[in-house]
Amino acid sequence: MSEAATSERIGETGPTIRHLRNFVGNSFVEGGRPFPVVDPATGRQHATAYEADAAIVDAAVAAARAALEGPWGSLTLAKRRSLLMKVADGIEARFDDFLAAEIADTGKPHSLASHLDIPRGAANFRVFADVIAALPTESFEFDTPDGGKAINYAVRRPLGVVGVISPWNLPLLLMTWKVAPALACGNAVIVKPSEETPSTATLLGEVMAEAGVPEGVYNAVHGFGPNSAGELLVSHPGVRAITFTGETRTGAAIMKSAAPHVKALSFELGGKNAAIVFADADIDAAVAGLSRAVFLNTGQVCLAPERIYVERPVLDAFVAGMKAKAEALKPGLPNDLGVDFGPLISAEHQGKVLDYYHLAEQEGATVVTGGGVPALDGEAANGFFVEPTLWTGLSHDARVCREEIFGPCAAIIPFDNEEEAIRLANDSPYGLAASTWTRDLSRGHRVAAAMEVGISWVNSWFLRDLRTPFGGAKLSGIGREGGAHSINFYSEPTNICIKL
Ligand code: NAD
Repeated sequence: MSEAATSERIGETGPTIRHLRNFVGNSFVEGGRPFPVVDPATGRQHATAYEADAAIVDAAVAAARAALEGPWGSLTLAKRRSLLMKVADGIEARFDDFLAAEIADTGKPHSLASHLDIPRGAANFRVFADVIAALPTESFEFDTPDGGKAINYAVRRPLGVVGVISPWNLPLLLMTWKVAPALACGNAVIVKPSEETPSTATLLGEVMAEAGVPEGVYNAVHGFGPNSAGELLVSHPGVRAITFTGETRTGAAIMKSAAPHVKALSFELGGKNAAIVFADADIDAAVAGLSRAVFLNTGQVCLAPERIYVERPVLDAFVAGMKAKAEALKPGLPNDLGVDFGPLISAEHQGKVLDYYHLAEQEGATVVTGGGVPALDGEAANGFFVEPTLWTGLSHDARVCREEIFGPCAAIIPFDNEEEAIRLANDSPYGLAASTWTRDLSRGHRVAAAMEVGISWVNSWFLRDLRTPFGGAKLSGIGREGGAHSINFYSEPTNICIKL
């Protein structure tokens, strides 16, 4: 394996195109149908990835199985932890490579990728190396029917080969959020990154090999979902579990393909998150927090609120504050000075978001700001940008208030009392996250606990302690990840009962 295997300069003066091969058994393998990877900030191809066919997926499963049966399966916990730490060090040592790769795939601003995506990619390995070391297993002593005693204790065993299927919005962060605990538990993984963002999963292969992670422990296959690498992985009999982050309807398709083999499934799915702003809230703090929540990563964050319920007396002040924040955002190329607002991931997604912008107007919205495409010069003119957008005047039942848009937009809707706010926030088929803003501590506790979601913030948003349970209720997911919750998914407890 060498850098030349992934990176290749084509043409004398032409653009640099990276070749992203499938990574199997610590080597980049030839084969697979090439497909373009596009920089969404410019609309230009910046890499070519190779779609894994059945033979490549089979080879990845075989390599993963061999690792489990070979050196990886017999490694001590201490050595496994030390390798995870080395992987974290390796990501940090190649921080600039990861940053460039993530920025090229997603078009996200340098400031965001360098503060959030890449540091969290490394942190995930450190956190789970610590969590696995500190986690006890349960033990029960009991009286047996014959008057004696027995003692139970549990040991954790890996699940086996785990398929990791991840989305494009926070590629390295969300992929390592699964890979790190899976490896901490002693599994071998096959990652299928999003077809839009295959670069950092490929680079991570290099880091794994450099860190000394045994062959076959980390594999990355490229391609799409249905009838491609994603489905091949999910339906493969040699893959024991699938951990997936993405859209709810993709989760449903994965469930179907996984059913014949009764695979363990962990799902982090879509959302249509609500925020509630009470009249007693610190309005400046609410505006600062929720403008970040709506517009961060151009709204492509699963936790982002797209419905904001505001108590009527502060509605005008809140809307004015949010409008000013939206209009202060600077769209443009990721590495340009002062740019804090990137493009959407693809032309297709841009089209979907703009369709919702038009639908909002048809559904009676007053457009407070945005609603279209910003006028940009130079290379960014061909990027997949949309304007940060806010609406008032929409009914809570409008489609734009019920369906996940996954763009930089929110509907602001007034309410008159706490009971109504709770009812409106919970009236959704999704249940991922909520954010409540109030100075009344009792109300904060009460409303946060009444939210039918997996993560309920008060006077904050996306404030994360990686040991806490993370996941969604209703259509937003199955199971929880984070801390011990991840370890519980990625391991199989065996209870040992000893009659004394
Ligand atoms: P997506 O569901 O379209 O794709 C996610 C991954 O699944 C990709 O790698 C894709 O190739 C693969 N895939 C698609 N169909 C498949 C199939 N039939 N079998 C196997 N694999 C398949 O999601 P996306 O558009 O990449 O990401 C955006 C979505 O992800 C949004 O709905 C967002 O809310 C959700 N998301 C959720 C969380 C969370 O933690 N709950 C976090 C981030 C994103």
